[in-house]
Amino acid sequence: MKLRGWSPPDHGALFVVSGASGTGKTTLLRAALDRVPGLEFSVSATTRAPRRGERDGVDYHFVAPDAFREMQRAGELLEHAEVYGTLYGTPRAPVLQALAEGRSIVLDIDVQGAGQVRAVYPEAVTIFVLPPRIEVIRERLVGRGTDGPEVVERRIRDATEQIARCGEYDYLVMNDVLETANAQLQGIFLAELSRRSRREGWVRAVTGGVRA
Ligand code: 5GP
Repeated sequence: MKLRGWSPPDHGALFVVSGASGTGKTTLLRAALDRVPGLEFSVSATTRAPRRGERDGVDYHFVAPDAFREMQRAGELLEHAEVYGTLYGTPRAPVLQALAEGRSIVLDIDVQGAGQVRAVYPEAVTIFVLPPRIEVIRERLVGRGTDGPEVVERRIRDATEQIARCGEYDYLVMNDVLETANAQLQGIFLAELSRRSRREGWVRAVTGGVRA
């Protein structure tokens, strides 16, 4: 349920959320997008096949490798990366349009992509979701049942490498107890969107344009 009485800021923010598969990042993001009015999810392009329940154009734009390469060649991607032999990328136009219109947008991308976004948009707010222990990732991936044992082990190795780079991020979210992690992630979004520099509208509304 959306927070009542919360208005989007005058100037939107670009949020980057990373965290290895199995950290529960998608669950946390869904809850935050459901709760914080005005936050929008950036739908990435990927060459991987949809998992059960994933919808084209909602979770990802599922594209063939040729189509992906063409988007890349035409400069249509804000960032891109290869993860486990699969290509992932953020379509540039919707992100730039959202920011130009003062809307806020959330990118769920890996550490390579986050570095590229930071290089072109240093104001991006970056958040890294940590699992309480590496073993929890294995349990979650096995529980999800979509990856074979080899893929699970590869994702765990990759998770360890990604976690080693969490020092590049502004915020950490520890996803041990879901309720607490949700409060943390939503708290970060709300705090960043409450920055005075984004909230001239609130001051104007109170003072009727007269500044103290
Ligand atoms: P999954 O295949 O489990 O949905 O995602 C695997 C990894 O790819 C996750 O770490 C996710 O954040 C990352 N990812 C998803 N979309 C993008 C994207 O557009 N760019 C980059 N760089 N990484 C992405």
